Amino acid sequence: MEDCIFCKIVKGEIPSSKVYEDEDILAFKDINPITPVHILVIPKKHIESLNNIEPEDEKLLGKIFLTIKQIAKEQGIAEKGYRVVNNCGEDGGQEVKHLHFHILGGKKLGTKIV
Ligand code: 5GP
Ligand code: ZN
Repeated sequence: MEDCIFCKIVKGEIPSSKVYEDEDILAFKDINPITPVHILVIPKKHIESLNNIEPEDEKLLGKIFLTIKQIAKEQGIAEKGYRVVNNCGEDGGQEVKHLHFHILGGKKLGTKIV
């Protein structure tokens, strides 16, 4: 998508601090971290939100979660734990309309999600 910030990051038109990349997935540090470790994991292809995933994306989504597991390990937060968040749509607080998963860790998080 032409005016999508995350598509621009995928294309290298906007710089990012990458932590992982393969042919399908990109992970980079959130520009405005809310926890000591705050990484965004995205599919390279433009999917607007969780509402827009299709059966054909099943493998990609599985791969995203295996990647999240690997990144958590590499970032040294796997053992103590972390939170994975997806904001979907207006009520979900989604600001960037390109599917992404937040990995939040490096500190003890609150027990309440909202
Ligand atoms: P959302 O609220 O849509 O779930 O999260 C969007 C996230 O993207 C926010 O945490 C925000 O800080 C991050 N973000 C927005 N623009 C950029 C950018 O240009 N680069 C990076 N690295 N993160 C961004
Ligand atoms: Zn996009």
